[in-house]
Amino acid sequence: MADYDVIIVGGGIGGSALANVLARAGRSVLLLEASEEYIDRVRGEWIAPWGVTEVRRVGLYDLLIAAGGHHVTRHITYDETRTPDESEARALPLNIFAPDVAGPLCLGHPHHCQTLFDAARAAGADARRGVQVADIRLGADPGVTFLEGDCETRASARIVVGADGRTSGVRESAGIVLHQDTPHHWFAGLLVEGCDGWDPHLQGIGTEGDFGFLAFPQGGGRVRVYGGYALDQAQRFRGPDGARRFLDAFALTCSPANRHLVAGRPAGPLHSYINADAWTAEPFVPGCVLIGDAAGWNDPIIGLGLSITYRDVRIVSDILAASEDWSPAAFAPYAEERAERMRRLRFAASIQSAFDMEFGPQARERRRRHFEAMAADPSLGLNGLAVMAGPEAAPAEYFTEANRARILMHEEA
Ligand SMILES: Cc1cc2nc3c(=O)[nH]c(=O)nc-3n(C[C@H](O)[C@H](O)[C@H](O)COP(=O)(O)OP(=O)(O)OC[C@H]3O[C@@H](n4cnc5c(N)ncnc54)[C@H](O)[C@@H]3O)c2cc1C
Repeated sequence: MADYDVIIVGGGIGGSALANVLARAGRSVLLLEASEEYIDRVRGEWIAPWGVTEVRRVGLYDLLIAAGGHHVTRHITYDETRTPDESEARALPLNIFAPDVAGPLCLGHPHHCQTLFDAARAAGADARRGVQVADIRLGADPGVTFLEGDCETRASARIVVGADGRTSGVRESAGIVLHQDTPHHWFAGLLVEGCDGWDPHLQGIGTEGDFGFLAFPQGGGRVRVYGGYALDQAQRFRGPDGARRFLDAFALTCSPANRHLVAGRPAGPLHSYINADAWTAEPFVPGCVLIGDAAGWNDPIIGLGLSITYRDVRIVSDILAASEDWSPAAFAPYAEERAERMRRLRFAASIQSAFDMEFGPQARERRRRHFEAMAADPSLGLNGLAVMAGPEAAPAEYFTEANRARILMHEEA
């Protein structure tokens, strides 16, 4: 029997970052990670400017930069309704969204996880890998029983933190209900190497024909690319040459620089996901709190899972480090802030999906009219502000159903 202040199940970004912060604050922490090695699961490698501020606030920014963190500083939205020159004339600097943040921060996901896990151990957390959690106990006497090989350990703590991702076993043990919205499109991702001609400080997105693309440079000629396509095209990139056919789909007239992506080589697996947004009403019960994807996740179309997770780490570590009150009431402000944060980001993601990942003549015409309308009325373009500067940066009125109808140009608006 081993006793700790906090047991964290899941040593991804959220769990390892939280273990680090709590260990530095003097808490005794047991961190349990199931995998032996972090592999490319096609997960987040782009942290929004507001997420970089959260990384700074938990004292992990210098660590990520020393590990190879790479800022992108310019954004271009390409589109089939504009010429490349017209799109490039509207290039957006990315240092305007958060104080002293040069732009979004990119870092490979497996390397990001390993860096945080090692740092948590160095900070004093009892960080274990390759473990199998056999039993989770919550309520008045929280604890976990886990196996390392044949060796079984029964550990107890004042609280169990679920940082075990989308299919969280801690969430299930706590009986916390996960709500999910309806799928909108397929979203696939691939790491590409040999893209030396792609500007290493430029992120590009765009829509043409039946494909929407996103490209985020990682440094060293590598670019993480994502592509979206219609729900009825489940087979589109299946099969042994799927990754190659996926890269070929990036050959778009609206973005000539995409030829550098097409010329690249797959440097990891191609994984396709049905886009989705998921949330929980209250990510805690007595003896347990959830963070990161375990507590509900945002549609990856706007790339905010890491920013959300780092904010969770900051708020929950403030509660666990600063006070001895770890009762459900202590986590109520976290639940309240997170519910509104996720509601706003769900709204922002659905707007982005409607514009970037709907195809055909009607969708194309709506994008053209939206660009035109936004030039005359910048309040129609506040989605970008919510994504880059944080959901609280746009006014509350932006996130209403009436405004959704206005932005998406529904007839009744
Ligand atoms: C296609 C796609 C693209 C994305 N792109 C972006 C992006 O560009 N930017 C961004 O910010 N976000 C992005 N995200 C989201 C982001 O990757 C996640 O929100 C983030 O990884 C969540 O971190 P986490 O630590 O909560 O969960 P995970 O990263 O899922 O980590 C959970 C960890 O828990 C471990 N685990 C699970 N079960 C157990 C168990 N029983 N015992 C012990 N360990 C366990 C797992 O091995 C894993 O290491 C993307 C997601 C997808 C699907």
